[in-house]
Order: sequence, then C-alpha cells, then structure tokens
Amino acid sequence: MRTYDVAVAGASVAGCSAAILLARQGLSVALLERSPDPGAYKKLCTHYIQSSALPVIERLGLAPLLEEAGAVRNAIDVRTRWGWVREPAAEAGRPAHGYNVRRATLDPLLRGLAARTPGIDLRPGHTVTGLLGERGRVGGLRAQDASGAAVDFAARLVVGADGRFSRVAELAGIEGRASPNGRFFYLAPYRGLTPPDGRSRMWFLEPDIAYTFPNDDGITVVAVAPAKARLETFKADREGAFARFVRALPDGPDLDRAVRAGPMMGFVDWPNLARAPVQAGLALVGDAALSVDPVWGTGCAFAFRSADWLAEQAGPALAGAGGAAALRAGLGAYARRHRAELAGHALHIRDFAAGRPWRWPERLLFSAAALDESCARDLFAYAARNIGLARFAAPPALLRAVRVNLAHRLRQGGPRRRAGAPALP
Ligand SMILES: Cc1cc2nc3c(=O)[nH]c(=O)nc-3n(C[C@H](O)[C@H](O)[C@H](O)COP(=O)(O)OP(=O)(O)OC[C@H]3O[C@@H](n4cnc5c(N)ncnc54)[C@H](O)[C@@H]3O)c2cc1C
Repeated sequence: MRTYDVAVAGASVAGCSAAILLARQGLSVALLERSPDPGAYKKLCTHYIQSSALPVIERLGLAPLLEEAGAVRNAIDVRTRWGWVREPAAEAGRPAHGYNVRRATLDPLLRGLAARTPGIDLRPGHTVTGLLGERGRVGGLRAQDASGAAVDFAARLVVGADGRFSRVAELAGIEGRASPNGRFFYLAPYRGLTPPDGRSRMWFLEPDIAYTFPNDDGITVVAVAPAKARLETFKADREGAFARFVRALPDGPDLDRAVRAGPMMGFVDWPNLARAPVQAGLALVGDAALSVDPVWGTGCAFAFRSADWLAEQAGPALAGAGGAAALRAGLGAYARRHRAELAGHALHIRDFAAGRPWRWPERLLFSAAALDESCARDLFAYAARNIGLARFAAPPALLRAVRVNLAHRLRQGGPRRRAGAPALP
C-alpha cells in the first residue's frame, strides 16, 4: 500500500482540477480513473462552459491548451417571448467569456495536464471499490486495477470526483437529496451549422427549451429540453420529433444544410441531486456533490470551481503542520464556501426544472433584459453564475426592471426589442 496526502476518485473535470491545484501546493496525489483509455471522455454533455469557470481554467494553465485545440470563446443570445436578448460584453472585472469545447477535446487535455503535473500519480484503469479508514474517518481508497487485483491508496484526504453516480459517496453513506425534473433532453452534433457570428443560441419556449452550441472542429451541438408532456411523441419517433421540434424554432438552425456528425443522446429522467460535500477525511467535488438540471449548462463550471474551493481551503491545511484539526477546519470552510456560492443557484435551478410557468420576477427581469443593455448584462452575469440570485433579483434590480418596462410602455408601441438587438440570420 502506498501513502499519499490526497487520493482522488475520478479523473474528469472536477478530479483533474482538484488534483492539479492540490499537487501544486507540494502535496502527493493519487488520481484514480476507472477508464483505462487516455482518450476517454464524458459523452452526455453539451459542453457549454460558463464564464464563471474562466479564472480557474486560467489558473490551471488550461486556457492556452483549449485555445490551441480550437475551443470557441462563447457568448450566447437567448430567445424569449419578448424577442432576442443578446449577451453584451461583460462588465470590467467579470470573466469575458467561457468556452464551447467538445468533451472529446477537453477531458483528454485536462487529464494530460494532470499526468504532467509533478506530485500526481495518475492511475487509469483503476476503479474505486472501497474506502479505507477506521472509527468513522475515511483514510484512503481501495481500487481494482485492470487485472482485477485490489490496490490500496492510503491518504489523509479522499476526494470523491466520480460524478453524479458517485461510488465514493455511496461507500461513505452520503445520501443524495433528489428533486424532480419536468423536462427530458436530447442532443446531437452537426457539421455545417456554425453560424457566421459563432455565437450560441438558446430558446426559452416556456416550458420547452432548445439550444445550438458551436464548438471546436466545426461541430455544432443542437439540443432540446422539452417538457415531459411531449415525451410520448419523442418515444414514438425520436429522430422525427427532434427534427420537427428544431425546424419549428423561430430563427432556428437549418438542419437541411447540415450533416449529422454523431449519434443522438439524451435522458428521459434526470432528477436534481445534491449531497453533503464533506465528511471526516472526505470531500465531494463536481457532480458528486451537486448535479443539477443541465438546461442551464452549469455542471462543468461548478466542477472546476468546487475543485478550486477545495484546493484553496484544504490544501494549506494538508501542506502545513496543523494536522487533523487543521484539515477538519479546512473541510468545514470548503463546505461553507460550496453552500454560499451554489445553494442559491441550485435552489433556482431546481425550482425552474419543474417546467412550471415563469414567476413574475423572471418575467420582469427577462423582459427588461430584452429592452435594456445593463439589465441584459446582469441577466447573463447571473446565467453564467458570475453573480448570485440574491444580487440578480435584489430589490434595486427589480425596480430597475420595472422602470425599464414602464418607460417602454410609455413610449407606446415602439419595438419591443432593445435597440441594437440582433436580427438573426
Ligand atoms: C445532457 C447533459 C448536458 C450537459 N451539458 C452541460 C453543459 O452544456 N455545460 C456544463 O457545464 N455542464 C453540462 N452538463 C453537466 C456536466 O456534464 C457535468 O456537470 C460534469 O461532467 C461534471 O464533472 P465531474 O468531473 O464532476 O464528473 P464526470 O465528468 O461525470 O466525471 C466523473 C469521472 O469519474 C470516473 N469514475 C466514476 N466512477 C469511478 C470509480 N468507481 N472509480 C474511478 N473512477 C470513477 C468517471 O470515469 C469519470 O471520469 C451536462 C450534463 C448532461 C447530462
């Protein structure tokens, strides 16, 4: 048995990020990944990475690698019942963009970066099957290697970065709190759909949702998230229903001039899932801690950012001389940070996932964003998770939205769209 400072289960977005940021603090890290394939990647993802992840992506040294690989700096326009709302340039001091990058590109790049980081012992083909430890404190991971042999990795801190169906959480007895999702989801990649402006698009059809995301290698992902009332139609003829749905989108993509570049994938039921992010000697990051409805495209950013918060809070405790008490305090600080940063977002995402009619603050804020650039700027800062719900829907923001809408009404019958809003091809 080898002993490390940290043992991480899962070498995808959250696991590689946590491993790199912890190893850079001088810690030894075992990074265990179930897949033996260096090119393995998560298939079920539309990979719109929100700009709130950009500071972590840059700190990791990943940004130049993504740029070189052709990742698209993203910006998005959203279609609402009030017309198109174009994402304006970000306010100074906020991240300027996120990335659209296929997971087939992102995951191997990130894993390669981890493999080259001194201090990380990357073990592909190692499936975590058990936890080490005693008296209620986790003290390492047991894995099965490609030959079927059990290998133990003792560690002062275990990190569960093994995704939504986290085996680590299950072994530790950390139960997920689930809440229902009223939509299902299908996505398919296409060539020949990259719009001239390279921008992503999202349609809020209340309650149905759709997107187009241009990515690296000329691939545009088309995705639909209809309310479950439409499920039977999709079950009867998935391809046909998908094509009809996309063709009916206002200003939608022209599938007739596109070539399908891969299989259609999706889910019919994806409840929101949250778990307590720490236990003695153990932290969960990424989807293992919080896996919410993907319609807002927040999962990768939450994975990058939660890994960063863990490294920031627990890394110094492991690197210093404070021992178990310091690590306990560091893990407590990580749990508080996770809650402070993500609980408000998770609350709104869970509520919206029901597919219910829009609430009045949503109607007020979205309609104002279609008319006024500073309202639009805050809407996109919120959607990218650069500001929280408490700020986005604060009384001054709601009052400003009322003023914007009233001024528009007083102007009587003028165009509903904000001046300069895009006329889409
Ligand atoms: C339909 C859909 C669309 C989405 N679209 C977006 C989007 O546009 N933007 C966005 O930001 N997010 C999106 N997401 C969410 C995003 O995919 C996840 O939030 C993200 O992948 C979480 O990263 P992670 O590292 O926590 O987990 P994962 O990426 O799931 O990685 C878990 C890793 O752990 C490994 N593993 C699992 N079990 C074990 C084990 N026992 N032992 C060892 N290794 C193990 C796996 O092989 C994998 O490498 C979408 C999700 C879905 C379902």
